[in-house]
Amino acid sequence: MNSGGFDFNSKPILIFWETTKACDLACKHCRASAITDPLPDEMNIDQSLNFLEQIVGFGKPYPVLILTGGDIMKKRDLERILSKSKELGIPVSMSPSATPLINEESMKMMEKYGVRSLSLSLDGSKKETHDWLRGVEGTFDRTLKLIDTLISRGFTLQINTAVFQKNVLELPEILKILKDKGVKTWEVFFLIHTGRGIDREDLDVKGYEDVNNYLAFASRYGIVVRTVESPMFRRILMERQKTEYNGGELYKELVEKTISLLGPPKDKIMGNTSNTRDGKGIIFVSHNGEVNPSGFLPFYLGNVKNQSIVDIYRRNEILLKLRNPENFKGRCGVCEYRDICGGSRARAYSYFGDIFQEDPRCPYIPGEIKNKHALETKNSSS
Ligand code: SF4
Repeated sequence: MNSGGFDFNSKPILIFWETTKACDLACKHCRASAITDPLPDEMNIDQSLNFLEQIVGFGKPYPVLILTGGDIMKKRDLERILSKSKELGIPVSMSPSATPLINEESMKMMEKYGVRSLSLSLDGSKKETHDWLRGVEGTFDRTLKLIDTLISRGFTLQINTAVFQKNVLELPEILKILKDKGVKTWEVFFLIHTGRGIDREDLDVKGYEDVNNYLAFASRYGIVVRTVESPMFRRILMERQKTEYNGGELYKELVEKTISLLGPPKDKIMGNTSNTRDGKGIIFVSHNGEVNPSGFLPFYLGNVKNQSIVDIYRRNEILLKLRNPENFKGRCGVCEYRDICGGSRARAYSYFGDIFQEDPRCPYIPGEIKNKHALETKNSSS
């Protein structure tokens, strides 16, 4: 279980730390209204610095620490956290909210402490869609301006897009915006049902297959495309190396629109096929120190306030089981792509209450099931 020098049983490649819940936006897929102040159980500065010391225990090369929120810019003592990370040699990437808190002062602070990699969210090609999701008017315009500013200052910028029914047809225009602005990486998030109104906006099974195939097509425009909570994208990347996709109507519409905006694609498919997944190569630490396999999988594994992240990552029994695809159930359990993909464990948990179940949004029928069905059909007709 080794990728790029990282043995995923020993250490993650990425640690996501939700430093604070505080944020001035009110995103529909995040919470109903803005939380302007930190919650009382948020890790204080001593606990935060102790957590950074724990990460050193993984040994070099250290995992990349991705500071998220809430809004990372609202984390108290952020400068001390960045300073300590730099002193320890932990590489840091940040995922701020597009608010006035990203300004000259905070950009200078990031530059001072060597933070060169950031991600921002863009969820629509027009302000109505983006501002509707983010809950604050003006966020779309601010995001477009920030993309230009951050790229011109030399930051490496990734754009994140949550995909759902209301914005799915805007994906080609979003791609065009990213290409025009020189963005190199596009990370597309698929919904995990959390009981909020936004759940109704989720795509159906066919929509997942069409959109994931569209993203493979989009990567041919010279942009690295990744997905979050849609590891089936890796199965699709592998399939598309071998065969064309005879797509559904949604796929065809997205492809036609993209060609009309950008012309035919010139590059090969680009995508990440590393076999990380929730709890394997990635781990999540919440604002109050709770450790989960990912930010979308609220399964309690321990707390860094009183346990070491290294111990939790290496020894937690559920994590050890999650890393072994033999433990998956349903179609994911017998699928030939179960190691490279393995299905979204967060989606399995949100649907079935069982993190080992199959991913209900993947339509793929594994070879073992197809063969069994063919044998049964043959036997019953002979
Ligand atoms: S059945 Fe599961 S493991 Fe196989 S491609 Fe679909 S989601 Fe991935």
